[in-house]
Amino acid sequence: MECQLVMNYLSEYMDKGLHPDLLQDIAEHIKECPNCEERLTLLNLAEEFFTTLEEVDLPEGYSERVEKLIRQALENRE
Ligand SMILES: [Zn+2]
Repeated sequence: MECQLVMNYLSEYMDKGLHPDLLQDIAEHIKECPNCEERLTLLNLAEEFFTTLEEVDLPEGYSERVEKLIRQALENRE
């Protein structure tokens, strides 16, 4: 599986809204791919972040925007 494909599926992956075979392919890819693992970690952080903010409607392209927000939040914390 390619990283681009994994990234497209990441939010569904987190919600377990995918076919079990696909979930497994992605899980295996993430185990071996630090980039996708990092992306997943950021998305998990982002979800907590947005839950805290009680943000419900996620706009288009939110994963990139969220990643930026999370990186900023992490930088500000240090
Ligand atoms: Zn990857």
